[in-house]
Formats: sequence, structure tokens, C-alpha cells
Amino acid sequence: MVKFLDLHRQYLSIQAEVDEAIRQTLRDSSFIGGPAVRAFEREFAAYQQVAHCAGVANGTDALEVALEALALPPGSEVIVPANSFIASSEVVTRSGHRVVFADVDPDDYTLDIENVAVRITPRSKAIIAVHLYGHPCDMEALTELSRAHGIRVIEDCAQSHGAEVAGRRVGGIGDIAAFSFYPGKVLGAYGDAGAITTNDPALAERCRMIANHGRSEKYNHAFEGRNSRLDGLQAAILRVKLKRLEQWVEHRNRVADRYLRELQGSCITLPAVRPWARHAFHLFVIRSERRDDLAAFLARAGIETGVHYPVALPDLPAYSYLPRDGAPARASAYAGQVLSLPMGEHLEDDDVQAVIDAVRAWCGRSH
Ligand SMILES: *Cc1c(COP(=O)(O)O)cnc(C)c1O
Repeated sequence: MVKFLDLHRQYLSIQAEVDEAIRQTLRDSSFIGGPAVRAFEREFAAYQQVAHCAGVANGTDALEVALEALALPPGSEVIVPANSFIASSEVVTRSGHRVVFADVDPDDYTLDIENVAVRITPRSKAIIAVHLYGHPCDMEALTELSRAHGIRVIEDCAQSHGAEVAGRRVGGIGDIAAFSFYPGKVLGAYGDAGAITTNDPALAERCRMIANHGRSEKYNHAFEGRNSRLDGLQAAILRVKLKRLEQWVEHRNRVADRYLRELQGSCITLPAVRPWARHAFHLFVIRSERRDDLAAFLARAGIETGVHYPVALPDLPAYSYLPRDGAPARASAYAGQVLSLPMGEHLEDDDVQAVIDAVRAWCGRSH
């Protein structure tokens, strides 16, 4: 049996430290804010090589609060990749703006910058750069394009803890960034948690205030905000896991290297890793026109897989109001072809070999 994700096994590997961190938080009784939250924010900012980090309740809130902090004119157009989790686009509409979907790159699945350029209008005010599956967007090209048009860039780093663009960690390359610590992410809490990072101190301060009722000091509220805070237990758990993050990202890359090397020339389409990119490999996504058959074959061999995502965002009922004309075609087509192979720090050499053997066997059988 090769599991797609094994959070229990991960917990067992850090059990003593996590249990002690939880007990310490209970002894301190600092459930909201407190020393663990401050320490985690500092440590995570250092890890992502960015000046400021503000913990929030989850990754979706991180995106929404970051977008609100940018204070775009109401009804602005915000460009979002057509292949992502719906959080990347729903925050746009919920903030009173308009979603414009752009197509994705055929090899690394992040934003196709040329397609972004085509979709820019005078009303475009922001781009949500999703470092999808853990592969960073081409931030150099995107920064050049966005600067030329006076457009802000929000990095959606929910899947890309530890990813790098030319040696620089994501999270501090665009104007502002959102991280998720949903349990299954590369760095996951034991419940919902998220963070906003930025190198702009004013933006960081504004996010902190928005996420804490617009509060400047206790019972003094400069404006109406909301409640989206990182809690002490999650921060304490995240601090324990953060110490292992680098080692986990390296393990993911070693697994990916083997998949890439040993499945090269097989019947499936492998993901690209750009020469300037360090991939975080939240997911290892391949493509096949007979995806469902491959998934069923692997399931019979005891190998769990996933599909990220089965429907492109513009094809969801939630976006049926958008014009179909000029809708991103590539993302729509890929939704029926993508398959996520097992990936994570839980995989041992034998597990990786089993996946490689099974995919090769399927290719031999059906091609
Ligand atoms: C998980 C995810 C989010 C949302 O994070 P939550 O913590 O679940 O709210 C946003 N964007 C992407 C790309 C994600 O994968």
C-alpha cells in the first residue's frame, strides 16, 4: 500500500516534541496570540526570507486579508490562473472585485505569462500568482509585466513553502503573499492556519489590523476589520514542524528526481522544473489522456493518487456567469488528464519504486 498522504506517520516521527509543545501552550494558556504565535511569525519569515509575517486563521483568509490591504478600487479586475483551488479566485469576488482567468503553462502548470499579458485591461489592478503544486511562477517575467502596467502581485504560496525563484524563496517576491498551513500542505498545522508575508512594513501592519478587528491598541479601532487570527496551539505545533521543513522539502525533491529520471520516456507527461526554480513538490502531477484508467490501475496495485483539479475553475458552476468566449482552453483540457502521484516525506525508496514499476507496467500494457 502506497499512501498519497500520511499525516499519522509524520506525527509519530515528531510525537514527543509536538506533545510537549501542546502541553506548554496549555500551561501558558496563551490560546490566541502569545509567545508561540510571535515566535512562529519570526521564524517563518526568516525561513521564507521575507521581512514580515502575520499569522491568520487559514490560507483563504490570508489571501482575502492581503487583497483587502492592497485597497484596490472597487470592481477592479484581478487575474487568476484557471487551474488552482477555488480559494485563489473566490477571494476576488468576495472582496468586491472581478475574476479574470488566465491560462496555464503546458509544462509547469503555473500562469502562462503571455496569456496574462493578453488579459490585461486598464481595469486590471492585481494578479494572483499561484505557485501551483509547489512550482514557482515565473516571477521575473511577471514582475516585469506587472510593473509596466502598475499592477500589484499577490503570491498564493499555499502549496509552495520552501520554493525558490533563482535562489530566492517565494513569499517576498511579489507585493504580498498568502500561505496556508492546512494539514495536508507542505507545512501543515493540526487544524486550520495561515499567514501573510510581505517586505512592506505598512502593508504588514494593515494586514495585522484587518485580521484583528481594525484594532490599533486594545479597544481602539481605527476601522472595521474582522477576526482572523492564528491560535497559540497551531503556532506551537507549526514551530516544531518548521524545524523539519527544509529536510521534508529536500525529501520531496529526491522523490521527484527519481520519478522524473525513471519515468522519463514512459507514456505519461512529466512535469517540468525550470532551471531557475526550486520546486517544493507539494504535488507531483503527471498527465495522461487515459488518466482514469491509469488511476484505476494504480489503485488496484495499492497506490493512492489524487486529481488536482478535476475541473478547471472557469468550468465550475460557480463561474457559469463568466463569458465562455476566450476562456482558458489549456486548463480546461488538462483537468481531464492530470493525476497526482504519491508525494511526501512519508515515502520510502520501496514506495517510490512501486509507483515507478506500476506506471511502467501500465504503459507497457496499454501502449
Ligand atoms: C489550500 C489552498 C488555499 C487555501 O488555504 P486554506 O488554508 O485551506 O484556506 C489557497 N490557495 C491554494 C492554491 C491552495 O492550495
